[in-house]
Amino acid sequence: MRRIYNNVIIKNFNSSSANYIRTIQCAIEAVNYLFNIDIDSFLARYNKVLYIIKREISTHHISALTKENNMNSVYIYLYNNSFNGNNNFFKNANKNLFDSIVHEFGHVLDILSSFYLSCSLMQETNSYYINTEYFPCGTGDYNGTTKLGHMNHYEDFAESFTVCVCGAEYEDMQGVYVNSFRKKTTKKIIRDFKYGKY
Ligand SMILES: [Zn+2]
Repeated sequence: MRRIYNNVIIKNFNSSSANYIRTIQCAIEAVNYLFNIDIDSFLARYNKVLYIIKREISTHHISALTKENNMNSVYIYLYNNSFNGNNNFFKNANKNLFDSIVHEFGHVLDILSSFYLSCSLMQETNSYYINTEYFPCGTGDYNGTTKLGHMNHYEDFAESFTVCVCGAEYEDMQGVYVNSFRKKTTKKIIRDFKYGKY
């Protein structure tokens, strides 16, 4: 275990993981810079410690997962696929790791807001559910979001959040599908969050 910020601890990264740790720090700084926030002080505000945990699992289907562990901590699990460019699907494994971490930070902030961030984006874009199926609304080939953003409003928010930071190249150009209204609205929602609206 190693503390890399006051409220951010990394786990299971050995001495040969220095470049992974740098990528995590770069992702944190990029999010802070783009949204003009400080993730570390957000965590402090909500009395949470974020654990970023490297984990080996055998499934090919998942690269990362964020969950609220208990009252005081949030976990980001980074699985094998996060580190190998999703089994070499993405040419630049380090860029893919960076993008994955930014996406998971979107979920972390959403958790801190008690899911107000993702709810607000759903409302402001007039997206909706019919039973359990999510229908994002917006312009473009994928209704203003990425393919993954169609899964539910949590993923819609995390994807828009990621594209604000990572741009069009995100996930082999999935970034182009997030429309400017969604990006603008995501920035506004984060700004409101920063000033304590939620
Ligand atoms: Zn996600």
